[in-house]
Amino acid sequence: MKVITSLSEIRQIRHELRRENKKIGFVPTMGYLHDGHLSLVQHARSENEVVVVSIFVNPTQFGPKEDFFDYPRDLERDHSLLEPYVDYLFLPETDQMYSVAEKITFAIKDLNNALCGPFRPGHFEGVLQILAKFFHLIAPHKVYLGQKDYQQCVVVQRMIIEFFFDLELVICPTVREKSGLALSSRNVYLAPLEKVKAPLFYQALKVGFDSMARGEKNSHVILKKVREFLEEKGIHDIEYLELCSTENLEEILNISHQRVVLAGAIRLGKTRLIDNILFDPHVSGR
Ligand code: AMP
Repeated sequence: MKVITSLSEIRQIRHELRRENKKIGFVPTMGYLHDGHLSLVQHARSENEVVVVSIFVNPTQFGPKEDFFDYPRDLERDHSLLEPYVDYLFLPETDQMYSVAEKITFAIKDLNNALCGPFRPGHFEGVLQILAKFFHLIAPHKVYLGQKDYQQCVVVQRMIIEFFFDLELVICPTVREKSGLALSSRNVYLAPLEKVKAPLFYQALKVGFDSMARGEKNSHVILKKVREFLEEKGIHDIEYLELCSTENLEEILNISHQRVVLAGAIRLGKTRLIDNILFDPHVSGR
């Protein structure tokens, strides 16, 4: 695995790989890697000749009160986890990726009205800003993102379409602990008792899924069941629970033929957890 820290070097490698017609798979991360990240790397490995992973804690996707400075980092460990599978590890410095005062940003319309959008103003704009830069620098054929961050997948897919990026987005399934808790770099913030409670979040989403699978169509009924399950277990700090179209994140009041995403965000102490479950009435429903 070759570590690249300069923009000129990544550009040169991109030119060479493109000249040799090599298929490039790209996995963007913020590091502090876990098996969720590594599953994206494995997917990329199995579908491409060259795998590029970036580790970059992107300041523009953090709000002023969020955990940018505390975000967990362990580059040495990340390096050894990636070494067997990855061709290029891209580790840019912040001042290379951003000029002192950026004058151009992205604006996201309705896709920001749902789920995390209202609670993390500027977050997805920051994600698009950094990914657009990475896509230009690396020019991958495929980019791999995790379903855990479902809204991110939808927003990035729209950018790819609307800005004519010549690449395919591959959404990989959420990797979970045996308990059901979705792996996340931020799980390290959980205190021991919170760690015990955290798996209840996915169990609650499954209560919603089971209700849909038994034929319930009304979102109020479904979401009420999920909320009641959480509250019965002592989880009251619920940022949102929503049922949306998987395509455009529009709120779904009654399930008919469309695929839906049941998604939520909760807080356990200082840790914010997000998770989701997809439901396809043609596959799972009655
Ligand atoms: P992050 O380092 O948190 O920005 O995540 C980098 C990528 O890994 C994103 O595409 C995430 O959606 C994905 N990811 C994070 N956690 C998981 C997980 N538990 N399962 C699958 N993918 C994940």
